[in-house]
Formats: sequence, C-alpha cells, structure tokens
Amino acid sequence: MPSEAQGRLWPRVIGQDRVKRILLAALRTERLPHAYLFYGADGVGKDAMALELARVLHCERNGTTACGTCPSCERAANGRHPDIRVVVPLPVGKNEGADDDPLARLNETDLRAVQEQLREKTVNPYHRVSIPRATIIKINSIRDVRRESAMSTSDGRRRVYIITPADAMGEEAANTLLKTLEEPSGGCMLILTTSRRDALLPTILSRCQNVRFDPLTETDLMDALIERNGLDRETAGFVARLANGSYTSALGLLAEETLQERAFIPSFVRHVLGGSVMPMIEDVERFAAARDRAAVERFLSLLLMWFRDAMVMTRGGRIINVDQEEDLRRFTARFQSADLLCAMRDIERALSLVGRNIYIKLVLLQLAVQLRRTIMTAE
Ligand SMILES: [Zn+2]
Repeated sequence: MPSEAQGRLWPRVIGQDRVKRILLAALRTERLPHAYLFYGADGVGKDAMALELARVLHCERNGTTACGTCPSCERAANGRHPDIRVVVPLPVGKNEGADDDPLARLNETDLRAVQEQLREKTVNPYHRVSIPRATIIKINSIRDVRRESAMSTSDGRRRVYIITPADAMGEEAANTLLKTLEEPSGGCMLILTTSRRDALLPTILSRCQNVRFDPLTETDLMDALIERNGLDRETAGFVARLANGSYTSALGLLAEETLQERAFIPSFVRHVLGGSVMPMIEDVERFAAARDRAAVERFLSLLLMWFRDAMVMTRGGRIINVDQEEDLRRFTARFQSADLLCAMRDIERALSLVGRNIYIKLVLLQLAVQLRRTIMTAE
C-alpha cells in the first residue's frame, strides 16, 4: 500500500497520528472491534476519524486508505452512503412515539435543518452539528440502529453507525444501545464519540474499545489553518495558540457568528482606557455579571486577537479583525508608544486565571487596571 509511505495517512483527519496508528494496526490484522468509543476534548477530530474509518471500511479498493474515487467513496463524500450512518440529537416531532421513524414526524423546517446539518458534517467533519430544539439522541434513533444492525448490508461490508455525541443519549436510548453492544452482530460497527466520557454508563464503556484523543498540537492546528482556511503563517500560529488544541474552536474564532461578540471589544477598550475609574469599575462589573466563564474566556481570546491586530497594524502586517480596521487605526494612532506586547501578556494572564476558576469579576477588574497602566502611561 504505497499511499501510506508517501504523504500523510488519512489527510482528511488533522494530526492524531497515535490514534491513526492504532486503527491502522487493527485494520491490517483485521481485528477491528464491533464497537469503539472515541473520547477526548471537543474539536480534536473524533468524528472526523470515525467518518474516515467508515470510508476506509467501505472503499471498494479494499486498502487501508479510502481511495476517494470509487462509487463508495463518492457516496460517502456526498453524505449519501447507505451504510455509513451518523446518529445525532434530533428534535421531537408532534405526537411522536418511541416506535416512530425518528424523522417521520418532523415538520418541514426541522427536517430541512437536519438534512442541512448532516450534509455540512459530511463536507466538514469538524463542523459542530447544531439543530434547533435537538438536545437528545432519541430512543427511536437507537431502536433503528438496533433493528438495522441485525440485517446484512448489500455489499457484505460492515454497516457503520457513528453516534455523536454519545453522552446525548437519554437513559432509555443508552439501555437500548447496551443490548446491541451485548449481542454484537458481525455485520455492523458502532463508533461512539464523546467529550464527556464520565457521563456514559460504565457498562457501555466496558463494551467498547476506548480510544483516547489528545488535543491537537499547535503545529498540526497551524498547518490545518494554513492549508484549509488559507491563513498566512503568522495569523495561523496566533489562532492556533488561542484555540487550545481544538480545530473546531479555531473555526469558531474565525467564524461570522463571533462578529457580534467582537463588535463589543472597541467599546470595552474605550471604557477601560477612557475617562475616570468609577464608571470603568461599574462597566466591568456589569460585563462580568452578564457572562459565564466560557463566555469570558471567549471574550478574552477575542480581546487578545484584537490587541495582536493593533500590534500587527503598526508593522503593516495583515490583521484578522478586518471589519474593525477603523477602530484599530484610531487606537494605534492615539496610543502610539503603548507596549502592546505587555498588554497581550496581561490578557493572557487573565485568560489562564479564568481557566483556573478564579473569581471572574476580580480577574476582569485586575485586567482593566493593568491595561490602563500599560496603555495609558504611554499616552
Ligand atoms: Zn474508494
């Protein structure tokens, strides 16, 4: 199989070489278990790996990589492979019972959202599926898995079910899945993925082969951002550092939806740096009260990105927050000799404190005071 020696194995999956080696060894010795549990932080490629393994198992070339061109690979790429199923949380339809087909009672809008999200997942396996009102993996979906897994496939290959996130199964669904795990049929493979392994039943854990996924390395993330998202090296390195080993988080930092939160930054900077201390304290307190820890972390990451842009701008480099070029220009013009590196270190310190469960309001107040000192002394 020459394609492995040359180039990277399974290039659609970013990094995770250790896991690739584990799966490759199982493929070569034909010792694939009937159920895997892929666990690890969000956005590190568990679903991507599951989809890739499914493609390999169904590729008509029978190698240890998916050729990408056979009819099976093409169907998989379009999300139309009948024997590769992605099981996700779905909304519950009107008067829906546990025996109904999980999609049958959904209205047009819900059904379209489901189809659109599943298609998106196939095109970009790092996409976080988000369907309105869909919080749990329904019992009917797992009953479908149980019923179908007993039937053989058209081409005699193993049907692959990717259950993601497995911790979204309710008790009933989990117990039904457990029955399937206890009486494995040779005709199917289950791949459960989760970032909350401790939320799964111990009986489920013990019946799957558990495979740990580590956070992506900064180098792997950076390469992916350059190759897949067209970022330049410096920007990619910066976003990779903020993304904490998660490609999905990196995409989130670059996404349109983050715009709204980013729009708040110039006014935050103005409030922190402009005027007297009391209104600033009130501002920060109000800001902290309206946000949870994750939101504050996201905000600080964006703030860091903003100061990084200010620094890049003074050197004539490419900025990330292109929509805020005006604000950035005003800021750098006003605080020409500010030590922006020092300000970035202040923000990084605040970020790590928020991550360590320190009182959010205190961290933000301290940061505001530090930023005033760092930036304003230069005015
Ligand atoms: Zn193929």
